[in-house]
Formats: sequence, C-alpha cells, structure tokens
Amino acid sequence: MNFRYTDEEEAFRKEVQEFIQQNVPPDWLGVDPGPEEESKEDVYAVAQKTWRGLGKKNWIGLSWPKEYGGQDAPLWKEMILLSEMAYRGAPGMDLAIAQADLVLAFGTEEQKKRFIPPITRGEAKWAIGMSEPNAGSDTFAVQLRAVEEEDCFVLNGQKIWSSGAHHADYQVVYARTDPEAPKHMGVSVLLVDLKSPGITMRQITQMTGIPAFCEVFFDNVKVPKENLLGEKNGGWAIMLHAFGGERTYGLFLNYNAKRYLEQLIEYSKDTSVAGQPLGKDPLIRDRLAQMAIEIEVGINLGHELNWLAIQGQATVKASSQIKVRGAAVAQRLGNLGMQILGLYGPLNEDSKWVKLGGRFRHTYMSAIAFSLAGGTSETSRNHIAGRAGLGLPKQ
Ligand SMILES: Cc1cc2nc3c(=O)[nH]c(=O)nc-3n(C[C@H](O)[C@H](O)[C@H](O)COP(=O)(O)OP(=O)(O)OC[C@H]3O[C@@H](n4cnc5c(N)ncnc54)[C@H](O)[C@@H]3O)c2cc1C
Repeated sequence: MNFRYTDEEEAFRKEVQEFIQQNVPPDWLGVDPGPEEESKEDVYAVAQKTWRGLGKKNWIGLSWPKEYGGQDAPLWKEMILLSEMAYRGAPGMDLAIAQADLVLAFGTEEQKKRFIPPITRGEAKWAIGMSEPNAGSDTFAVQLRAVEEEDCFVLNGQKIWSSGAHHADYQVVYARTDPEAPKHMGVSVLLVDLKSPGITMRQITQMTGIPAFCEVFFDNVKVPKENLLGEKNGGWAIMLHAFGGERTYGLFLNYNAKRYLEQLIEYSKDTSVAGQPLGKDPLIRDRLAQMAIEIEVGINLGHELNWLAIQGQATVKASSQIKVRGAAVAQRLGNLGMQILGLYGPLNEDSKWVKLGGRFRHTYMSAIAFSLAGGTSETSRNHIAGRAGLGLPKQ
C-alpha cells in the first residue's frame, strides 16, 4: 500500500484547503467534527456558510450518483475532503451526509430523487433519531410507536440525544411497528419532516455548556407511508448499516487531534517557565512524542479503512477499531493539553488570560462524549471481539 497522495489527490487536497481558507475566518481555532458546536450561534453562522459553499462546489456527496446530485467521484475524494475539514476544525460536516447514505442504500427511486438533491445543494439538514431513554447501546429496544393507518404511520413516543435536531429539517426515526415480534424484528425506519404537527423539542445542555442535544417528542405525528425507508419491520438492516457509517467518524477525530497537537507543540516551543521553554522539559517532550505516535497510528488505520472501503471490503472490525482509537486519542489529547497549560487550562474562551482559545478546556470535556456517540467504545470492542472480528463466542 502506498501511503503518499498521488498528484491528482494532492491537487484536490490543495483545492479543499483553499476552500476552507475562504470559508472559515483566518483566526479560526476549530471545532470538533460533527454538529455539536454548531449550537453556538457564531459557529452555526460559519457552518451554514460552509455547508452551502460545499453545495455550490458540488462537494456534498461527491461519491453519490449524478442523477441525485452527486458527482460519481471516487471515494478517496470524499475522504480527503472530510479529513481536511476535520483537520482544520471547519464546521459544516452535517449529519445529512450519513443519513443520505441510508436513503441511497435503502430508499425508493422517488425517495432518492426527493431527499438527496436538497442535501447535495447544502440546503437540507438532517438529524438522527435512534436513541431513546431506554434504548442506547441496546438500539433494538426502541419503544417509540408507529401505528400503520391507511395512508400514514402515526408516531407516539420520544427520542433523546438527537444532535442538532433543533436546526434540522428531517430526522431518520427508528420506530416500533410490531410490538409482538422479537425486538430486533419489529422496528421500521421513517423519514420524518421535523415541522410536522405534533412534534416538540427540548434542548439539553452538554457538559461543555453547549445545548447541542434535543429530546424530540412525538404526539400523534402523521408520517406519510411514502416516507417509510426500506421494508416495514426491516429497520434492523438499516441500523447495522448506519453504525458502519458512524464509525468512520474515528478517522476524523484523529485528523482533528493532529491539528490540536500541532497547536500544543507550538505553545510548548513559544512558552517559557522559569526561563526555559516548555518544549525542553523531558516529560513534556515525551508526552508530546507519544501523542504524535498515537495520532499517526489512528490516521494510518483510517487510511487502511478507506482503502478497504474502496475495494468494497470495509469490515465492522476495521471501522470499530478506528472509532475506539479516535475517541481514546481525543481524550488523551484533552488531558495532555490541560496538563501542559496548567492553571490556564480550565479558563474558558471569554477569559482575558485564556490560552489557545480555550480549545483544550473544550476538548477535555467534549472528548468524553466521543466514546459514547455513534456507539460506545465498550460495544465497539464487543464487535471487534465477536464473529466479525476476533471470532470469540457471543456473550
Ligand atoms: C455527543 C453525542 C452525540 C449523540 N448523537 C446522537 C444522535 O444524533 N442521535 C441519536 O439517536 N443518539 C445520539 N447519541 C446517543 C448515543 O448513540 C448513545 O449515547 C449511545 O448509543 C449509548 O447509549 P446510552 O447513552 O443509552 O448508554 P447505555 O447504552 O445505557 O450504556 C451505558 C454504559 O454501559 C455500557 N454497555 C452497554 N451495553 C453494554 C454491553 N453489551 N457490553 C459492555 N458494555 C455495555 C456502555 O458502553 C456504557 O458505558 C449521541 C451521544 C453522544 C454522547
């Protein structure tokens, strides 16, 4: 395997870097990959500009078929785009991308023509409605009820932890359509317009202070039958597919960490304590070097996953490994940043004494969520241990 970019890939990478330069402010210190920080109004404004700008460049869904607004481009282009965005901490990596992948894989022709083009134009935002108060890792335990009527499904119940749902137009909702069937067999997936009558939301503030989560309540919400994704009671296949997509998120966490590490390295060069640069301290040198190794390993695992995906051989084991790795790297990096910054570490971005824009205080707190979001590290390790990975017997 050749790890170097080809000339064509390098040229595209440069083009992406220029795009980011034009769309995020020059002093931008970055955000986490994903929609969480977009719940801050200033970040949302930049995210909207970036999202629409990506749409204008025809860069949303680069690898999707042309007839639905994609470019039929090879997968590596999409990986370069998303990796560069994550490295620069550019906002606008909308959840709509992963949800559109589901519509492309399981949707009818009419659904693809209706839902995908507004996403590729950067106009529609989507949220994920999988988790419920009693259905997290055990996703098949969803209780939100969808009852079939003549021309629609009627939804009652609630979702929780729906990232950015307050900004979204649609939500992919996993609902119970057959309460008598074994629990994984009675779930269906519906594409729900979040402006439908009967939907209310309540934002939940994360420990970072950002109200990025939503509880979404459904009270007799009518969803037209044409918005059923895939087979009725066939939601389990869509869930499994969705998890595969979520786990590539680990690659973007590693790219994101790479840039934050570079900031810490610069800080350690420029900052002196007792007349000596921090970068001369043997302990700090050791920890920074160790972090660099860990991030490099994560990125290379990501390249392997990308390569496997291009060959059509991506496995649950490979995508779970990178997810677990990305979360652990981000958590260690947050920790390291807090230690190197010392008493400056916990200051928030509004303090006049703050260093590095308060990003390490943020990372220290936000990274805890990375080993939960998109499936926890424990359940990911279970996948790696199981039949599709190490072949250990089921628990
Ligand atoms: C930042 C963030 C964004 C999110 N965004 C969304 C979203 O947009 N939409 C959405 O639907 N959900 C979202 N979630 C929810 C996420 O999918 C759940 O948090 C996750 O699936 C875990 O579920 P839970 O929180 O109910 O924890 P639980 O499943 O209750 O787990 C609690 C603990 O028990 C462990 N555990 C559970 N089962 C096992 C097992 N079989 N073996 C070993 N250990 C186990 C878990 O690893 C965890 O440590 C988000 C979460 C976070 C943190």
